[in-house]
Amino acid sequence: MNATPPAGNDRPDQVLVLNSGSSSLKYQLIDMTGGRRLATGLIERIGERTGRVVHTPGEGGERREREERIADHRAALEAAGGELSADGLGLDSPRLAAIGHRVVHGGQSFTRPAVVDESVLAEIERLVPLAPLHNPANLQGIRTAMELRPDLPQVAVFDTAFHTTIPAAAARYAIDVETADAHRVRRYGFHGTSHAYVSRATAALLGKAPEDVDVIVLHLGNGASAAAVRGGRSVETSMGLTPLEGLVMGTRSGDIDPAVIFHLMRVGGMSADEVDELLNKKSGLLGLCGDNDMREIQRRMADGDADARLAFDIYVHRLRKYVGAYFAVLGRLDALVFTAGVGENSAEVREAVVAGLQGLGLAVDAERNAARSGAARLISPSGSRVAVAVVPTDEEMEIANQTYTLVKP
Ligand code: ADP
Repeated sequence: MNATPPAGNDRPDQVLVLNSGSSSLKYQLIDMTGGRRLATGLIERIGERTGRVVHTPGEGGERREREERIADHRAALEAAGGELSADGLGLDSPRLAAIGHRVVHGGQSFTRPAVVDESVLAEIERLVPLAPLHNPANLQGIRTAMELRPDLPQVAVFDTAFHTTIPAAAARYAIDVETADAHRVRRYGFHGTSHAYVSRATAALLGKAPEDVDVIVLHLGNGASAAAVRGGRSVETSMGLTPLEGLVMGTRSGDIDPAVIFHLMRVGGMSADEVDELLNKKSGLLGLCGDNDMREIQRRMADGDADARLAFDIYVHRLRKYVGAYFAVLGRLDALVFTAGVGENSAEVREAVVAGLQGLGLAVDAERNAARSGAARLISPSGSRVAVAVVPTDEEMEIANQTYTLVKP
């Protein structure tokens, strides 16, 4: 694909954001001058017999969906390009300033986004053992984009970068130092792009500068993590070497006695891969009650289902432990913030997490909590010592912003 050089008012002011998974490609095209989403799309089941392409122009335009075989990531990106062209946009557009890529693991090497060159590619490759499923898929996305638009800057934005400020006391595990170092075992944390965006947006909601606020962010999606952010810098987070640690998630166990693993292997006769699959894919809410969607769990609870109730209670109990712990880590708190699918939508979860925490200055106003809105908002009663807020996350916008900051003319 050849790009025509910018001419006239063809100012390169758009960023294409790519989130490349092993069998999927999510994309968003964002106009950086107005912060507007020009298109959103998802290509699924790459490499399978039939793939699926879902494309939505503009913000909430009419969605187009079709099924066709998508042989590989190159075909996926070309399909995305075709969809964008149909809207008069396109991968070959001179308006594209850069492509921003979500990369899951940046280890300790990447404390900020990086314009991709050979050394950056090699470093992401070197980190593959730490994220064996994600980094190869992310690399594939970057390489494909480089093939299709070799003239454009490609920027890697790392899920771990925001957490590289976590002090050693929180980042190191209490195991033999030599062994830990030999295998790069430490807390890296994930969802960094979301925690960065949401903590900054929370400061704005409070009318303060990010440097002046201390917040706890609860990112509750299918994957879930908590972060303690002091003055705009992450000082503690719940995910660790991998996204398995911490909160109860849709299908992940979160915190567990590590000896459970040896027990399951030695006594239960399971292999390491089987335990890995159990803890990552068959645990959490799904393992506890057979559903990992909080909406379904809430429906079942309303019908008096005891398994769903217990799963909900375990989920909330873990969250409350983390809120208390992170309050102590920070020593003071300006806001407790809920984000992502569950955090933004489940008034029940928010209410249960904060219930009875008046002693910590935390409370929700029932009416504010119940009101449905897509905007960042306070749900604590007026005059509360600590704010409780709902702030919708926008990882793609954050990736686009970080990308554009690095490349803008
Ligand atoms: P991902 O981690 O896949 O990006 P999301 O942040 O989109 O996930 O969150 C997905 C989850 O959000 C769903 O599994 C569902 O449990 C939850 N969710 C979405 N809408 C609601 C709702 N109205 N009430 C409760 N939970 C919801």
